[in-house]
Amino acid sequence: MKIEDLNRIRGIILRSGGRIKDILLKALEEKPLERKEAYILTDLNEEELEALTTVSSFIRDLSSNRVVSYSRKVFIPLSNICRNKCKYCGFRREPYNGGFVMEPNEVLALSRSGAKAGCKEALFSLGEKPEEKYEYVRKFLKSKGYSRMVDYLRDMCQLVLNETGLLPHTNAGILEWDELKMLKEVDASMGLMLENISERLCLRNGPHEHSPGKNPKLRLKVIEMAGQLKIPFTTGILIGIGETFRERIDSLYAIRELHEKYSHIQEVIIQGFRRKPNTPMESSPEPDISDITHTIAIARLVMPRDVSVQSPPNLVNINECIQLLKSGINDWGGVSPITRDFINPEKTWPNINTLRKITEDLNLQFRERLPIYPKYVFKEEFLTENIREKIRKLIDEKGYVNIQYEAKNS
Ligand code: SF4
Repeated sequence: MKIEDLNRIRGIILRSGGRIKDILLKALEEKPLERKEAYILTDLNEEELEALTTVSSFIRDLSSNRVVSYSRKVFIPLSNICRNKCKYCGFRREPYNGGFVMEPNEVLALSRSGAKAGCKEALFSLGEKPEEKYEYVRKFLKSKGYSRMVDYLRDMCQLVLNETGLLPHTNAGILEWDELKMLKEVDASMGLMLENISERLCLRNGPHEHSPGKNPKLRLKVIEMAGQLKIPFTTGILIGIGETFRERIDSLYAIRELHEKYSHIQEVIIQGFRRKPNTPMESSPEPDISDITHTIAIARLVMPRDVSVQSPPNLVNINECIQLLKSGINDWGGVSPITRDFINPEKTWPNINTLRKITEDLNLQFRERLPIYPKYVFKEEFLTENIREKIRKLIDEKGYVNIQYEAKNS
């Protein structure tokens, strides 16, 4: 850290006035922020907000060494049938009305095109335990010799790993201990958004009223079990679905506490709600960019320094992406050069070269990472035999994708 940089940041903090001065100076000294201090940061004037984002991006620079990473991925929507009914979801479909489960040959064909396009990650995203609710899914699984979706998912991950070398990362919703353990064998990493810790959102008229899997206690339990099993894990919060700012902070603290116990959280995603046509929340207001960047800045101060803060670049425009960087993110998440974001199909991913340019224009380094973050690739307990060798072949000494394997096209 250059002394003139530190003095410049101190000057900005002091100019921002007394109310948050001590909190920001404390953050600058790398002391953990208390929850009540984080609450104070939720209600700021313009000058204070600028001071906050200056500090958060400075902390990002220190903790990530000015590297902003991304994962080149292919998105595999294994099934859009789900036992839950979140009121903002535009992905979920009923069987016989757009609902599907992908066939193994479709999974393989999509993965092969991803491998050809230089992707390293196969993101498996699917509705939660659809076989619990739908005969259509039970019949599909039976025809393939399965009774649970999670077993089919496991074999699809193994297939992709064996046939293409892509590294699976799965988002399958609520999972049990044995299911997580089984998936660890074929996944480089896994994910489950906490979304929000507030049980209020699951009550009548809330966005999760009809989504048993969105019970925050269940989700925290899954994240905790992943920690016990040493699974590199991605989680995060969804903002703008009816939660208060304090509930966002409480959610971040819940994630932080689990990470402090198990050291397994690789990134926290700050994702803004985007309304979808023909959903109960199609007319609800979306969080604007200043709401998103304000939350990112607080997350950077709340989360331990080794946890990345990510925000999806396709859910905002390219000028807003620059604001995401200026508020302290150090990761763009998975970006696909070939598939849509099936959860937000109307939101195309920015061109990877454009992301590189805006990142480098801010004097930050743009690096490709694997779905498992660099901090875990050399830690044996976070890897399984199945994927260790494949990972080691792809990385450099810092754990990022070796430059010789980075695709040149975007
Ligand atoms: S958001 Fe996820 S859990 Fe909720 S209905 Fe959609 S697919 Fe299911």
